[in-house]
Amino acid sequence: MDVSEQITFCPYCGENITILVDGTIDQQEYVEDCEVCCSPIIINVEISHNEDIFINTRKENE
Ligand SMILES: [Zn+2]
Repeated sequence: MDVSEQITFCPYCGENITILVDGTIDQQEYVEDCEVCCSPIIINVEISHNEDIFINTRKENE
């Protein structure tokens, strides 16, 4: 599995955002600024062994 586009949402403003997920990494966490409100979103991505992608977003300092 390669890089794929996934839709999630911003925990600050609730808008849908598109992120790029690298399917070769089982678990990753990084910070990305919201395209809409520019707040720093902590994005946590987990990919299960059968390639289901789980995305969690949370606010910084939470
Ligand atoms: Zn936002």
